[in-house]
Amino acid sequence: MMKPISIFCILILALGYQSLLAQSLSIPLDSDPNRSATYHESIRFYQNLRKKYPSYVTIETFGNTDIGIPLHIVTISKRGNQKGKLVTLINNAIHPGEPDGVDATMIFARELLADKTKISLLDHQTIVIIPFFNIDGAFNRNSFSRANQNGPKEYGFRGNAKNLDLNRDFIKMDSENTKSLVQIIRRLDPQVFVDNHVSDGADYPYTMTLLCTMYENLGADLGDFLKNQYAQDLFKHMNDLNDPMVPYVMSNDNPFTGIYGFYDTPRYSSGYTSLFRALGLIPETHMLKPFKQRVLSNLNLLNVILQTNHSYRDQIQNTQKMQLEKDLTTDSLTLWWKMDKSKSDSLLFKGYLPKYKQSDVHLGQRLYYDKSETKTANIPFFDFYESSLKCKVPRFYVIPQAYSEVIQRLKMNGVTLNRLTKDTLINVQMSKINSYQTVKEPYEGHYLHYDINTTDFITAQKFYKGDYIVPTRQKAIKYIVQGLEPRSGDSFFAWNFFDGILMRKEYYSDYVFEDSAVEILKNNSTLKANLDNKIKTDTTFAKDFGAQLRFVYENSKYSETTYKLYPVGRIM
Ligand SMILES: [Zn+2]
Repeated sequence: MMKPISIFCILILALGYQSLLAQSLSIPLDSDPNRSATYHESIRFYQNLRKKYPSYVTIETFGNTDIGIPLHIVTISKRGNQKGKLVTLINNAIHPGEPDGVDATMIFARELLADKTKISLLDHQTIVIIPFFNIDGAFNRNSFSRANQNGPKEYGFRGNAKNLDLNRDFIKMDSENTKSLVQIIRRLDPQVFVDNHVSDGADYPYTMTLLCTMYENLGADLGDFLKNQYAQDLFKHMNDLNDPMVPYVMSNDNPFTGIYGFYDTPRYSSGYTSLFRALGLIPETHMLKPFKQRVLSNLNLLNVILQTNHSYRDQIQNTQKMQLEKDLTTDSLTLWWKMDKSKSDSLLFKGYLPKYKQSDVHLGQRLYYDKSETKTANIPFFDFYESSLKCKVPRFYVIPQAYSEVIQRLKMNGVTLNRLTKDTLINVQMSKINSYQTVKEPYEGHYLHYDINTTDFITAQKFYKGDYIVPTRQKAIKYIVQGLEPRSGDSFFAWNFFDGILMRKEYYSDYVFEDSAVEILKNNSTLKANLDNKIKTDTTFAKDFGAQLRFVYENSKYSETTYKLYPVGRIM
């Protein structure tokens, strides 16, 4: 039997060990190369980091997520005046099945604060970390949802609590997670945005690949700076670290035939931050490399970004300021870009040769990469886009207050809105939706519209007291135009916020309207001629008597004016 005094000693030792553990800055990866930190382990780590470096680290919580937990915001900065400091926001676990950034960012923060020589890099910049964005997905921990990925042993799931992919949620903002993050981003207004991922696709020797936000969409000056200076430095410094990095390998099976730049439209995190002129960087570690190797490569890139931001801090801020001035005075903005395949850069690429052999599963051929044959060659990198759809930028948009979900999103994005103080008839440009396509299967909780065509016309439109006037000449100009121009690929219209207008509310009985139609045609010779002409030239229409009657109805005073009338007015 133990003496009471020894039990007491053991208890003290055990408690001491527990509290040491509780304050430890170790992470699971330190002792197990295939283990990624859980949400709670990560938050505890940052709390310990704050305890150890209270003058550098602050932690706040903000908003909500679809699982009822707020987002954590970890800020690493030197005390004192923060004005004019470059802000880099590092977002992790937007796809919790791709957790490399979660662990890499913890090591990055730990090393940064422990290294006296590195601390000076915080003289002119602040690092803000979202440890987990998709907390709900991170709680859905499993070992199988990333079928092709080489570790870690456990990771979260891509879908959040509503089974949404949060990296498609930045315009529609269906999740509480995105509503929170968007408000955080707008408050911070980061100049550099890093969203950590793990790749899918081809096999090649590189551990780290990088996707930059589409240069053209960022604006001519800023896009040029990102492409030709900033990103070039990232690639060069990764090479110096003996961890060569290539642009994200988006290709058919054979990268040697060329790789393609990615068009991150505003639904994606980096496409969204690009509307506010942030340099969007998407590190994509290669899924087939061992977990620890990927994390260390992600860490290398974060260190390179920190150093590059320090070197370019003035140029980043000056170019962004210049781009903002240009954005604020531009007459027109691009709503849609298309790849210009006639142009490409030449990229030195080391890869494995793709080959085909008989499958052991099915009767067809299967792809494999022959790692015994490494080839180095210059390959075309198709990364040029040209504007394929533009619009004139109105001075103001006028939004009926009925569309409160749109208003809520504009407000969360820091858009300045004014309200009409009385009912007013305003001469505005309105749009009639002529035609559109809709996806056949639900896409991220919506039946997304695309190929949207409109006819624009000037009319005196009645708006009510309390309706919203949105001046476009503000910081959010590109966000406002992309969201409110119905033809834009990620407009609120495309995302179903205005679907009420796409259905008639009244109709007619054929047998009654037949008699009215006779009178209408008798008094409108132009309409009669148009009807006759359509019957002559359109064989389907010629056989469809109901369609002919409907043609008369739709071109008569009985047709509903609100049908397919996009309700947002433009003051040009
Ligand atoms: Zn991803």
